[in-house]
Formats: sequence, C-alpha cells, structure tokens
Amino acid sequence: MTIVELRDVRKVYPLGKVEVEAVKGVSFGLEKGDFVSIAGPSGSGKTTILNMIGCVDRPSAGSVVINGHATKDLKDKDLTTLRHETLGFIFQSFNLIPVLNVRENIEFPLLLGRERVPKKDKAQWIDYLIEEVGLSQWRDHKPNELSGGQRQRVAIARALVTKPEIVLADEPTANLDSSTGEQILALMKKINREMETTFIFSTHDAKIVGLADHVIRLRDGLVIENVRNGKNMGEAVGDLMENSVAENSAMMGSKAPSPADAPKAGS
Ligand code: ADP
Ligand code: MG
Repeated sequence: MTIVELRDVRKVYPLGKVEVEAVKGVSFGLEKGDFVSIAGPSGSGKTTILNMIGCVDRPSAGSVVINGHATKDLKDKDLTTLRHETLGFIFQSFNLIPVLNVRENIEFPLLLGRERVPKKDKAQWIDYLIEEVGLSQWRDHKPNELSGGQRQRVAIARALVTKPEIVLADEPTANLDSSTGEQILALMKKINREMETTFIFSTHDAKIVGLADHVIRLRDGLVIENVRNGKNMGEAVGDLMENSVAENSAMMGSKAPSPADAPKAGS
C-alpha cells in the first residue's frame, strides 16, 4: 500500500530578489512499512522534501499525498491533526527539552493534541519504549547527562510515543560518530520491523543507505535514482541521471548501478 506519494512536487524559496528552486519536479511513491532513505549530497533538497512530507512546509506546485489525503486540500486544523496522529519526527540535533528528563521528554508529545494512547496504558507504553531504545538506566537523567547516541535514542522513543504510522528523520546520524550512527540506524530498522512503522530518513552517508528497502537518490532538487528492493522504480531522467549517478556514487563511495544495468520497473 502506498502511504506517501509526491506528484511533480516543486519548491521555490524566495531569496531577496531571486528565487531558489530547491525541488524541481519530484515524483515518487513510498510503501507502508518500508525503511526508506532519501539520499543525496548537501543542498540536494532532502530537508525540503522531508518538510513537505511532514506537512511543515507546503509545495509551490504539485501535490503531496499522505495516507490518501492530498495535503494541499486540508485545512490548517486537519493538517495539524494529520501531523500529530500520523507523523513522528527525529531531528539531526535531537531537539530535546533540556529541563525534562528522559522519561518526560519521551512523554512530551502525548501532552500535545488528542490522546491516542489511553491514560491507563500510558506509563506502561513509555516504559516499553524506554526499554526498547535501551535507556532503562537513564530514565531520570536530563539530556545534558547523556551522550549523543543516547540523546538520539530518546528522540527515537519520543517520535514513536504517539504511535505514528510514519517517522521522518532528517539526517538522524549526522551529529554522531560513524559507529554510533550505525547503531542508531540499526535500532530504527529493528523498530521498523517490529512495529511496522514506516521510516523515512535522509542521509548523505553511503554506509547507512545500505540498510534501506527503498532508496530515493537526489541531486540538485531532482530524483536521479529510485530503487526499491533492487528494482528500479523511477523513470530515467536521461543523461542527467547517468552523469549524476556516476558522480554521486563516486562522491558517496558506493557502487550505484548504472541506469542501464537496473531492471525496468514492473519486471
Ligand atoms: P539538503 O537537506 O539536501 O541539504 P535543502 O533541502 O536544505 O537540502 O536545500 C535545498 C536547496 O534549497 C539548497 O540550495 C538550499 O540552499 C535551498 N534552501 C533551503 N531552504 C531554504 C530557505 N528557507 N530559503 C532559501 N533557500 C533555501
Ligand atoms: Mg538537510
């Protein structure tokens, strides 16, 4: 089942008297339950796309469809509800609340908006998440007493506390050393499998792209590669794609298949 769909999405930012076209016409569909990587170098449009999927930002043109709802047709109130009930967020810089301890940080989203977790189950659910991310011994500690990896574990539990169908993570490993980053990704993947939560994470790190079921590779605001479980899901963007994949994979130190080698969609 398709849970997220982008149809010819464009995003233009005004920048003084000129305009920056951050996303230049991007279309793809994501399947429910997948572990999805939006990959690409800095400036390629990853954050802009995640913000549009997260209903934090609106496309300048085209449409973003979440769970069958075209976000541009929703009123602000319904968009807020969709965001609160369907989406969870993990940020590059963790964004924890410094005065709250681990348990309180994880609980925090439940205090906003409508309750999806019944009051009587709340304590148990939070305990379960704390255990799941391996922080049982740290539950009463404040963020400044935790390592970067531990902070990101708190952020993962916090993103899951409202039982979202989709978790968006913008470069969740960017501020971690590479082995901690790999552990965090492995934890996200484990939760993705256990809870069947769709994870969409952006990265410029080729190593963690390898864990994904579906990789959307961006360059300069365009999709240059769209491969799900080894199958090419995208329409080739011709020469641009060929050149960019080669350059991009050289830069990312990975061996991306050339468009000619990839099986055609539906084969
Ligand atoms: P990434 O997350 O892949 O690094 P971004 O989505 O942040 O890429 O940015 C894509 C392009 O859009 C970049 O050229 C960036 O400078 C530009 N951009 C992003 N946000 C804004 C903004 N608020 N105003 C102007 N330009 C922006
Ligand atoms: Mg970014």
